[in-house]
Amino acid sequence: MLSATRRMQQRAEQLEAQLGQSARQIEFLRTDLASAQREANTDSLTGIANRKYFDHELYAAAEEAMATGQPLCLLLADIDHFKQFNDTFGHQIGDQVLRLVAQVLTRSIKGRDLAARYGGEEFAIILPDTDLDGAYTLAEQIRATVAGNRIRSKPDGADLGRITMSIGCARYIPEEPLTDLIQRADDALYRAKRAGRNRVLVAEAALEFFAPSAFTGV
Ligand code: GH3
Ligand code: MG
Ligand code: MG
Repeated sequence: MLSATRRMQQRAEQLEAQLGQSARQIEFLRTDLASAQREANTDSLTGIANRKYFDHELYAAAEEAMATGQPLCLLLADIDHFKQFNDTFGHQIGDQVLRLVAQVLTRSIKGRDLAARYGGEEFAIILPDTDLDGAYTLAEQIRATVAGNRIRSKPDGADLGRITMSIGCARYIPEEPLTDLIQRADDALYRAKRAGRNRVLVAEAALEFFAPSAFTGV
């Protein structure tokens, strides 16, 4: 009787020890998973969000804007004449510039805003609960900060001049496909390039989007 009790007690202790070990393993895997997820969402060169995470967050921000009725804006920013910069100073210094721009973006945003590397030398910023005026003001501040920085080469501190960015802003129209929002921001960016670069342009409101009800008498 006594030995049976002792055996049960030993078994219970064994199980408890195993449980503790499993809990530690789960905790370890959870930390591992979280860091793998973070890595999967991060652009390895600049350390900011990558395109995949941007897509995910833009979708979530649009859902939220529709649910709350809050405005939502998008900025698309592209470094001007970056190919020429790379050709003149080399790819490594070009990479350094991409990191610098990412830093300016990160420091310029707040709260739920998200800055991402959209691709190559192009960046995107999601601005929840922000109207076009606010988006334009922020874009202009980013443009001026980037244009005001002198680029210095890492090894010797040599002054490599400045770089500039062109930026397009657009406001989300509830229920529109996100590709339309991105297209409007991209069109504004393209117009900023054509107008001489180093400037911010705001997308035209998509008036035709509202037109059907006016013309069908609904
Ligand atoms: P624009 O003012 O019209 O935007 O001219 P641009 O030269 O910036 O545009 P273009 O599309 O002709 O060239 C983009 C350049 O960006 C070419 C490519 O070498 C450079 N680039 C893209 N990704 C990277 C990167 O990860 N590192 C570096 N160093 N350069 C990159
Ligand atoms: Mg460019
Ligand atoms: Mg580009």
